[in-house]
Order: sequence, then C-alpha cells, then structure tokens
Amino acid sequence: MPVNDQSLTPNVLKTDVMRHLTFTLGKDAPHASLYDWRMALSYAIRDRIMEPWFASTRRTWEEDRKRVYYLSMEFLIGRILEDATINLGLHEMAERTMAELGQDFKAIVGDEPDAALGNGGLGRLAACFMESMATLGCPAYGYGIRYEHGLFRQRFEGGQQVETPEDWLSQRNPWEFDRPEATYIVGFKGHVETRDGREVWVPAETVKASAHDTPVVGWQGRWANTLRLWGAEPTTLFDLERFNRGDYTAAAEPETLARTLSRVLYPDDTTYQGKELRLKQEFFLTSAALQDILRRFKSGHGDLRALSRHVAIQMNDTHPAIAGPELIRLLVDEHGLSFDEALPVAQECLGYTNHTLLPEALERWATFTFGNVLPRHMQIVERIDGWHRRTFPARPHYVGIVKHHEVRMGELAFIMSHKVNGVSALHTDLVKANLFPELDRLHPEKIVNQTNGVTPRRWLKMANAPLARLIGETIGEGWEDDLDRLKGLEPHVKDQGFLGAFDAAKRQNKVTLSNWLGAECGVKVSPDALFDVQVKRIHEYKRQLLNILETVARWQAIRANPDAGWVPRVKIFGGKSAPGYAVAKEIIHLINDVAAVINADPLVGDLLKVIYPANYNVSMAERLVPAADLSEQISTAGKEASGTGNMKFMMNGAPTIGTLDGANVEILQEVGRENFFLFGLTAEEVMKRREDPDHARKAIEASQIMQNVLQAIAEGQFSPGQADRYHGLVHRVWHHDYFLVASDFDAYLAAQAEVDAAYKDRARWLTMAALNTARSGFFSSDRTIRGYMKEIWGVESALQD
Ligand SMILES: *Cc1c(COP(=O)(O)O)cnc(C)c1O
Repeated sequence: MPVNDQSLTPNVLKTDVMRHLTFTLGKDAPHASLYDWRMALSYAIRDRIMEPWFASTRRTWEEDRKRVYYLSMEFLIGRILEDATINLGLHEMAERTMAELGQDFKAIVGDEPDAALGNGGLGRLAACFMESMATLGCPAYGYGIRYEHGLFRQRFEGGQQVETPEDWLSQRNPWEFDRPEATYIVGFKGHVETRDGREVWVPAETVKASAHDTPVVGWQGRWANTLRLWGAEPTTLFDLERFNRGDYTAAAEPETLARTLSRVLYPDDTTYQGKELRLKQEFFLTSAALQDILRRFKSGHGDLRALSRHVAIQMNDTHPAIAGPELIRLLVDEHGLSFDEALPVAQECLGYTNHTLLPEALERWATFTFGNVLPRHMQIVERIDGWHRRTFPARPHYVGIVKHHEVRMGELAFIMSHKVNGVSALHTDLVKANLFPELDRLHPEKIVNQTNGVTPRRWLKMANAPLARLIGETIGEGWEDDLDRLKGLEPHVKDQGFLGAFDAAKRQNKVTLSNWLGAECGVKVSPDALFDVQVKRIHEYKRQLLNILETVARWQAIRANPDAGWVPRVKIFGGKSAPGYAVAKEIIHLINDVAAVINADPLVGDLLKVIYPANYNVSMAERLVPAADLSEQISTAGKEASGTGNMKFMMNGAPTIGTLDGANVEILQEVGRENFFLFGLTAEEVMKRREDPDHARKAIEASQIMQNVLQAIAEGQFSPGQADRYHGLVHRVWHHDYFLVASDFDAYLAAQAEVDAAYKDRARWLTMAALNTARSGFFSSDRTIRGYMKEIWGVESALQD
C-alpha cells in the first residue's frame, strides 16, 4: 500500500505530469504557463493519493470502525501541493522531475493560492488536526464550509489596513472532488406544526448543501481521510416564469440568496456579532454534516440508539453548537426516537472544544433571532434546558441555556456534550474556575484538557528543510511522526560541530527571508541581526502595542547612545485586524508609522529595523517561523487560550519572550526557565491589578522610559503630518489600559535586555535555540490527537498492526 514504492520512478512521474498537461490541461509544453505546470503536477501528485484514500475508506467500512467527525466553521489550510509531496515521500522526485522538464519546483509550489478558509489559530488547528488524524490512521471526516471568498487580503495604504476580497477559487482547485450525489436540504425559518402528536417543522426557506471532498493524506501515505466542504446551492435553480417576463434580476434571486450562505468567511475571530447570516451559516454546516453522518450510519447499521458506538462528533468552539438540538431533531422528528432516547445518544456522540474566555467572543443569540431562524430548535433548546434544570436541582437559578432572552451557545454545547475540553493546561483551569464553575461542579468529570499542537510535517519538515536535514543527519529519520525523538538532539547540544551546523541552518533561513523581505517590502535587513518576530492576528490582548512601544524605547535609547554595543535587531510584525476593529487598526497604523521613521533614521542604521509585510497567512508563516531568532508571545496573562504560533517557533529553534499565558506555561515547563525569557504579571496578578482603577497611571508615572515613549507618540514624532493622530491611543494607555500594557512595560524591557545579553554570547544563544527544538516534541499535534482519541472520542487507530 505505501505509495512511495519502486513503481513510481521519476520517469513515471514525468510521464504523468506530461499526460495531465496534455490531456487534462490541453496544453502543449512549449506554451504551458506556470499555472499549467502547477496543475499538471498537482494532478499527478493527487493521483498518488487515490490508492491510500480508497484503501482507508474500504478498511473503515470492512472493519466497521468508529469515525471521528470534526465540525469546524474554519479550516486554515494553506497550500497543499508541497505538503502532499512531502507526506507521499515524493518531494525530491518531484523537484528533480520538474527540473528535468525545465521548470522550477519552488516557483510552481509558490504559485498555489493559500486556502484561507479561516481567521487564525482556531482554523489552523483544525487543519493540523486533519493532518495528524490522517497520519495516525484515525478514521475521520472534517466538515466545513466551502467559502467562495476566504479571509480577505490585506494591503497597506498610507500605513493603514485596506481589505480586498480573496478569490482562491477563481482558478481551478485541483484538490477537490465535487460530489453532486451527496446533497442535503437545509431549512430555515417557517413554523412548527403538530401532526399525529408529533412536531413537524415546516421551513419557509430551503437551500441545498452540496459536498466537495478534498483528500487529506498523512505521513508516508499510510492513511488518508476526507475534508468535506459544503457549498450552498438553490433548491429551485431559477424562476423561469420571471425570466420569460423579462425580469432577469428577480429570476436569479433564489440562486443569489442560497449562494450567499457559502459566499464569505466572517473575518473576525475574537468578537461575536449576532448576525442572522452567521447563524444560518452555522446551521447550514451542522445540519448538512449531521444528515451525512446519519445517512452513512444507516447504510451500515439499524439502531440509532447505538450511534455513539460508531460516531464521535467534535465541535470546534461553539460555532457548530447547534449540533446538539439538530441531532435531537433528526433523531426524533425524522427517525422516530423519543426525546428521552435521543438526548443521551446525542450527548454520547458530542464533544465541545472551548477556545476562548473573552466574554465578547462567546456566542449568544437573541431568542427572537434564534426562534425566527430555527423555530423547531428553539423548542428543543427549551426542552434540553428544562431537562437539565430538573435533572440537576442543585443548578443555581442564574445558570442555564436560555437566560435574559438569549440562547447561550457555550452552556448549550457544554450540556449537550459528554466531554468539554480546554486547549492548554492553564486555559482548562480557567474554563473550570471562571467560565463554567457551576456546570463544572454539577459535572465534575466533564471538563478535560487537550493542549494544542501543530503538525511537524508542515511546520518543520516542509517549512525548514535546512534544519530538518540536520535533524535527520544527527538522530536519523523517524522523528517526523515520533517527535519525542527530538530529545535525541540534547546530547549533541554540547558539541560545537552540531551547534555550528544548527547556526548555519538558521542563518540560511535568515538569508532567504531577508532576500524575500527586500523584494516584498523594499527594506534591506542584515541576516546578522536578531530577527524578533511577532506574527498573529492583531488584537489588544495579544499586545502588539507593547512590542511597538518597546521598539520606540529602543530607538530612543540607541539615538541617545549609539555606541553602547547594541545588538542589531529586526522587528518583524505580521497579522490582520478584523475589518471593524478600530483599535486594532490604529495599532497597525502606528506600527507602520514607527517603521517609516525608524527605517529612515541614518543615526540608527542597521541597529534597528521594523518590517511589517502585508497579508500574513499560512505561507508567510512558513517563511517567517524558520528564520526567527526570537518568538514574541506577550499576551496579557489569562487571555490567550493556548496559542499555536508559539509552538511553531519553539520547534524551529526560536526561544520565546513571553508571559505565563496559554501554552507558554507548558513551553516554559518543557524547555526550562533558563531557555525562556519570562516576564510579566500572572493571570491572578492581572485580575488583582485591575481592581486598582489607577493601575496604568501609577505604572507610567513610575517609568521615565514609558513616559518618554508615550510623549514622543503623542507629540506626533511618528505622524509628522498629523501631530494628534495618536492622541486617542495614548489617552487609552493612560486611562483605559484594560490589557495592562503599562503594568508590564518595564518587565518587558528588562526581558528584552536579557535577550540582547544572551544573543551576544553565541554559544549560550545557540544552545538555547537548539534546546528549544530538542524539547518541542510534546507540541506535535499527533500527541494532541492521541489524547482526543483516547479521552474524548474512544476511537482507535486503524494502523496499529
Ligand atoms: C499558527 C497560525 C496562527 C496562530 O498564531 P497564534 O500566535 O497562536 O495566534 C494564526 N495565523 C496563521 C496563518 C498561523 O499559521
């Protein structure tokens, strides 16, 4: 079954590429464009996935295995071609084959658009999980929405973010298979009737959900699962009568309305807006997925009461939390179970992953909206809530799913799941203590932890070829799907030869990146400088502001004393703001304004550069992470659920400067205090500090450096054409500093000074960097998925022979 077998000689791959170029693309080689070559190679590689894909499906059926269904409104996949060649063991062969055909493999894989069907960490986690489930032979489907337009593209105009639509589907997508036979009707609105003592929902609107399948192949092609994305189509294609009357626009109305459902991704990940379209999208995904799951179950089994023996459904945040009531509705209204039979069946199938404690991100729907869009589900939600209240009489009166004319999706997901998980040890503790304390007391075994991870195939093997090669030479192959083996690097960290090679690999990545930055941003940076990287969504809690304020302080200090033996630094920022998030957009503007002034300052020269390449996405992360010297993970403690960017950097040998937040806590534990630049208030101290309404003013008044920084910004040193541009921002730091930038500022400065000192000591720095890689094994998403399989899903690997 392995696909990287002897039969696929370079000659065969070459023949396959040429065959696809000729017969699939209809192109003669001399006239083929980069796009044509990419398509031809993609189809040739895709062909190699079919055998493991079919074999995996066949085996799951034959062995009647339990399947995992991962429901997520976001999958931040990135590019597929190079990742697929790596997992199939065809990378070198593909490179060689394309060279023989006179083509540049790197250019070809770089031509693929990023599949950006997600905002950030949550969507990227879903993509890493899909890859790990395939690697581990965990029979699974991912279910999502096939957004026509993924996350917007970001440009800067005058330093400010401008959004333009993204159109990844404007070119042919070679990875997906349309499944017109797999369609389901999804209803909205209407009313509920009682017929023969049963409730019947009569929707007023219906759309068709149509499946598009992408195979996801695991490491070494031993297993492949399916990512099934739903596209929305009209149930009645076209109003022919109106068309014949000449009313062309109205004739296309049903089509337009339906397609709106899968038109765009909501470009916000940390605040929640009660938009009806969003609720409809969530129900669209969930209902189509559950209908598909029940159809598959019914084709092999009879008794739906045994559903949870064969089906595990994971809800990625509350976005698909309508799965609880919808599964009950399908079981009761469509398949004849009683409510009392259906409820435990649904609970045993469902699991819920919480991703945030931020109150503004917790989904709550006005009962008016919810009942209008989903009238039958409103009844079922009330019934679930009533059942829970009666079954747990100790439940306090203020706890419940429906409260103050709102449906609370967190409580709904909690009550409808047999397990609820947080995504890092600290986050899980806070979910118990602060988010669901009463429900945790009523259901003491329900909340469990599954610390996030990332796939080392994409984030180390593929993104960092120089380091991957060194690892292979040092400890042999096999670390790719057994990342704890990186521990084997530890004894070599004392070896000067190894450290030199580690240094050379990092340096090679930095040279590659500085060339790219020069071309992309027009700023030349020296690869000898310390590359200090903060890339992630722009949000107040992630505190890019803290970083840019420190940058200004550093600039001022260098100007005051240029010969103080400064370590040259390149500050690299990357990330998008939600389009409606004014404060985050102002921070972007400030970063770009500061960059313009500092980069043009001849007094500072190479000692400090600030770079902010636009449109951060998965592909950009793959460039930046391997070249980073320092990983910025500086969120206000208690606010970042886990982070996964922090893990990617650690794996690639970049020590962290960070707070005790999310999975930073576990990174610190694994890597050791001496290899981590720790600073800042703890989650507990943060809560205490906020009790003092004057915390910011006191912190600023105690810090001359902070005063100087804020004054420079307030005076307009970075906005010469508009001196008052940042008055609002500076005012907020003084008076509304909810995320405690001021309180952590001096500690952050001190930690940055430690970074400089450590970097000057080459041996010490390289040891730290190498130990970060060596001790990152825990953060493989394979470890995470094993945890879910064992503790939540009750699913076994099909590959354990
Ligand atoms: C990993 C990743 C994230 C998550 O980063 P955090 O630092 O954990 O917020 C977001 N966006 C992209 C493109 C990523 O690759």
